[in-house]
Amino acid sequence: MLTLPTPPYCLPKSLENAEIDQKLQEIMKQTGYLKIDGQRYPAEVSDLLNEGEIGSGTCGQVFKVRFKKTDHVIAVKQMRRTGNKDENKRILMDLDVVLKSHDCPYIIQCYGAIVTNTDVFIAMELMGTCAEKLKKRIQGPIPERILGKMTVAIVKALLYLKEKHGVIHRDVKPSNILIDAKGQIKLCDFGISGRLVDSKAKTRSAGCAAYMAPERIDPPDPTKPDYDIRADVWSLGISLVELATGQFPYKNCKTDFEVLTKVLQEDPPLLPTGMGFSLDFQSFVKDCLTKDHRRRPKYHKLLEHNFIRRYEVLEVEVAAWFQDIMEKTESPRTSQCYTQHQMLSLFSR
Ligand code: ADP
Repeated sequence: MLTLPTPPYCLPKSLENAEIDQKLQEIMKQTGYLKIDGQRYPAEVSDLLNEGEIGSGTCGQVFKVRFKKTDHVIAVKQMRRTGNKDENKRILMDLDVVLKSHDCPYIIQCYGAIVTNTDVFIAMELMGTCAEKLKKRIQGPIPERILGKMTVAIVKALLYLKEKHGVIHRDVKPSNILIDAKGQIKLCDFGISGRLVDSKAKTRSAGCAAYMAPERIDPPDPTKPDYDIRADVWSLGISLVELATGQFPYKNCKTDFEVLTKVLQEDPPLLPTGMGFSLDFQSFVKDCLTKDHRRRPKYHKLLEHNFIRRYEVLEVEVAAWFQDIMEKTESPRTSQCYTQHQMLSLFSR
């Protein structure tokens, strides 16, 4: 009998509020300034000029914003303090991880946060777009050499999280992989990441069904989650198949339940032969999508794989490729541009 993964475990409301308040207090100590390129600038909401929405995730909107004092263009994630508690918890967890990952070049960098009575604004480096939107722009496969560089960046980001902070991401998917015109590739959205206890995740958390590893869908004891970072390795494998072929491997499924059932009952997806993928790429994806998690490689093993070794050293013109795609294709969703008046009413309620 297939049991669906349960949503994030619920703390009693009072405890939940206390936890959010405590995290907010910690952030309050660091609020009121932005640290950009090593320089610290006092900052308040009126210093931010909203230039339009660039994304909306599960729990908040992300805007392109000009920091008027320096003219830096940055990304700002907005969290309404009066909003949904689960969503706020995710945003604060995200901030927590991003702030402590300042020394990893493969993780989105945070410049600081501005807390007002109504909102928390999280300032981050602005990237070009995410791999999900890139896929929609291209409407076809992303070249192997770009995915090679992406794989190196994401595996190193995940290894860094595990080794430096004992954290598992739990939501690896194309919309959480960001890329920019400099050719940088970075992981973002740590909202449902979890602490590892003895290298195992002990809390349940939803994540996206479509990329979920079999051992998370059908754990031996659903009341005691006990999976490790190899669940993220599976999600990386699914993301790679999707980006390399331009099609989500379970695209014909009508419901999440159907996807989860297929993940459990069918052979794992593979890169198709005949699409020109190298044998190393095919073998790497096959390793990531090993159904039995006990036989699935962990990061150190993956880093020894020829596919990663090759793309660690190979020069790839990611920046030029990205700029070319952005010029030649249209944005999947027209981003909204606000007038100064609309912007002020958005940011200074
Ligand atoms: P949520 O935590 O609400 O799911 P995300 O952090 O995943 O939000 O962001 C939602 C979307 O916004 C991403 O998929 C991406 O397209 C865009 N985005 C997020 N952060 C940035 C950034 N720093 N630069 C550019 N785009 C971003």
